[in-house]
Amino acid sequence: MVEKIPIDLLIDNGTVVTIDKERRVIRNGAVAIKKNKIKEVGKARLLKAKYSAKRVYDAKNKLIMPGLINSHLHFYHHMHRGLSPETLNGLGWSDFVHRRVATVVDPQDEIWGGLGTLLETLKTGVTTFLEAGSYNLAETIEGVAKIGMRGLMGRRSFDHVSQGHDMLVDSTQKCLAANEAFMKDYQDGVGLVKPCIVLVGMGRCSDTLYRKSKEMADDYGTVLHMHQANMLENIQEAMALHGERPVEHLYNIGVLGSNVVMVHMVHVNQKEIGMLAKSKANVVHCPNTAMKLSYGMAAFGRFTEMSQAGVNVAIGTDASDCSNFNDMVRLIYLAAVTPKDYRYDPAAGSAEKALEMATINGAIALNMQKEIGSLEAGKKADVAIFDMHRPDWVPLYNELQNLVYSAQGNSCESVIIDGNFVMEKRKVLTIDEEEVVDRVQFQAKKMLKKTKIPIYSEWKWS
Ligand SMILES: [Zn+2]
Repeated sequence: MVEKIPIDLLIDNGTVVTIDKERRVIRNGAVAIKKNKIKEVGKARLLKAKYSAKRVYDAKNKLIMPGLINSHLHFYHHMHRGLSPETLNGLGWSDFVHRRVATVVDPQDEIWGGLGTLLETLKTGVTTFLEAGSYNLAETIEGVAKIGMRGLMGRRSFDHVSQGHDMLVDSTQKCLAANEAFMKDYQDGVGLVKPCIVLVGMGRCSDTLYRKSKEMADDYGTVLHMHQANMLENIQEAMALHGERPVEHLYNIGVLGSNVVMVHMVHVNQKEIGMLAKSKANVVHCPNTAMKLSYGMAAFGRFTEMSQAGVNVAIGTDASDCSNFNDMVRLIYLAAVTPKDYRYDPAAGSAEKALEMATINGAIALNMQKEIGSLEAGKKADVAIFDMHRPDWVPLYNELQNLVYSAQGNSCESVIIDGNFVMEKRKVLTIDEEEVVDRVQFQAKKMLKKTKIPIYSEWKWS
């Protein structure tokens, strides 16, 4: 008898959605894990015959997915959720939260807001994130890394007052020096969280800051993360300033590249799509924010055209105070259905395309495609397991259709990151969930005292 190969964990007898090159979906499948890596993915009977596992996780009636990748979220913005009037557009909203709230944010807001965001998104199957800008970097990276998720984070940087937005603006030198110091001090990361370069983007950065930040990202082998082309006003401003549209301008000054991640990107024309494809710059679509802040996605969005042109499009839940949720399953649903409606074409979006955006495309955007984004031998053991034996999952004919269009995010049962269970049967093992909820609410009380923002509502409250 051939001796079995020892492994640490066998996730046994579920439906495995690999998102490998062949896009195999394996019913009665299994995933073999040794230490922090995937050893093999295949039919359960074959893997059971081959491996002897220290632990077997029974995945009958479960869906086994690559850990989801939330390619754009914010930490401290979590502390402003529900504070601003919902009648503000993108510029009005940004001015409101940054003038009234962000200026009084303290390290505890960043840590607990960060943990609150990550906890919420983790519980819907997310294993990896790209964060969009903090201020108290040392405290924040040390604080949020405790949750055990994989991610990149950086400093919220901008050096140019645009359309009256002057809250928290720094000099070019300060932005560059602070970003470089963070890259140097935390080169090895804390836990699984590593630093990257974050710019606010849009009209709020000088050409020098864009260029030097791209050089820095190249030098440190990291990602340059920024917002671009959210609103029509961004286009009008760039045209007035440079005589070029925003993406066109960044392309012409040499800032685009495969390590650049550009978020929102609602107002991009066909010429700019060509520039994105040519430069291999990545796009992150946030359909929840686009709709809530009236970015005009239905009228102007060209995400389907971007994908067709070969541009890598990932998705992210964005900031809790504008989007306003971090449930990745809910976001996947929006990424799949919105183009069907605004293109008047049911084939413009699909379950499969939306799931690629939430997994392998996110991995490409974060420059981690060799490590994560699919369930394949040799990749990191980042796995999300969904329970399909629930009202929202039956009748079950097609697992992908149900995950994207029917399932609730809380049907995520367990999450494994780097080979370790971070959530098991809905219980988070790395941090005290109750404590995070209490601390977010405690910080919120302090926030309300400091900002004195009233409740904005059409109704009478007492
Ligand atoms: Zn954002």
